[in-house]
Amino acid sequence: MPGYAVLGEPWWIALVWILVAGHLTNMVNTLYLHRSATHGGVVFHPVVEHAMRFWCWLTTGIVTKEWVAIHRKHHAYADREGDPHSPTLEGLANIAFGGLFFYRKAAQDETLLEKYGKGTPDDWVERNVYTRRRGLGIRIMLVLNLYLFGLIPGLIVWTCMVFWMPLTGNIINGLGHALGYRTFGTRDDSHNLYPWGIWILGEELHNNHHADPRSAKFKAHWWEFDIGWFYIRILSVLRLANVLYARTATPREFAAKFYRDSADRMNRRLDRALSRIQRTREAGLRRIERAREEQSLKRLDRAAARARARLDRVRPGKFARVARAKAEAGAELDRAREAARTRILRAAEA
Ligand SMILES: [Zn+2]
Ligand SMILES: [Zn+2]
Repeated sequence: MPGYAVLGEPWWIALVWILVAGHLTNMVNTLYLHRSATHGGVVFHPVVEHAMRFWCWLTTGIVTKEWVAIHRKHHAYADREGDPHSPTLEGLANIAFGGLFFYRKAAQDETLLEKYGKGTPDDWVERNVYTRRRGLGIRIMLVLNLYLFGLIPGLIVWTCMVFWMPLTGNIINGLGHALGYRTFGTRDDSHNLYPWGIWILGEELHNNHHADPRSAKFKAHWWEFDIGWFYIRILSVLRLANVLYARTATPREFAAKFYRDSADRMNRRLDRALSRIQRTREAGLRRIERAREEQSLKRLDRAAARARARLDRVRPGKFARVARAKAEAGAELDRAREAARTRILRAAEA
């Protein structure tokens, strides 16, 4: 048994734990609650599924039936009257900062839960533990964190863990219906938050998901990376997941089949992108040419400067030598002149 506050020092252990736990929570959110329990695109091995249900109870207190029902209703009414959490109807700030309030309100609607919550787990553990004692898991997590990290760090770690899921949800339900790009012309306002939203494990590809909700694979373009789908592939190789449906059509084919308007728009966008690439390429080539010319001019300038410097180094020495020779020659001349004068004077006296 580890001792009290054994993980309290150094501080970064707590940070790593928050990030790892948050990653696991995001994984449970996208793989189990969303892609499997709500839309049925994939089913997991009972052991994997239960591990995810257990983690969900421990860190979020979310009841599968409630989450699934609210999310299915969101798809049925996306961004129209009846959507439990639409930034188009409620305002982006309200969903991005107060999404939990809208979730709680919808979760109290028994009719909604009965109508949209069908097919969710209803075994003994679900009824007697995960639903009846929904708050027990996060309390156990609180005790565990306080014990492992000490009082203050433990409280901080636990707060981060508990608020992780509402924050993720608010980002997807708020920003995922307001910011980013759209690949498919769905009737709602869903957007893809790629690439900065990558830490939410594929949930950032929210427009792709609304276009084809049952698909266990959210990525549409080859350049989009869907971490959740990556994990599903690994689990299915290990025979721990069974993919029931994953979109295989290219975005262009899929849009042409189900979103004709958006297919035309996508074609136009692709054409525009191609001509933009062409223009960028030509401008780049021109820049390279200019740079080359400038470089050769600079090389010439440098050679001239080097030659000048050499000349400057040589010049003073040469001048000094010439001046010395001149002075010596002058002195020699003076001496010769003097001797000649003396000789002439002597000859005259004689
Ligand atoms: Zn949505
Ligand atoms: Zn969905």
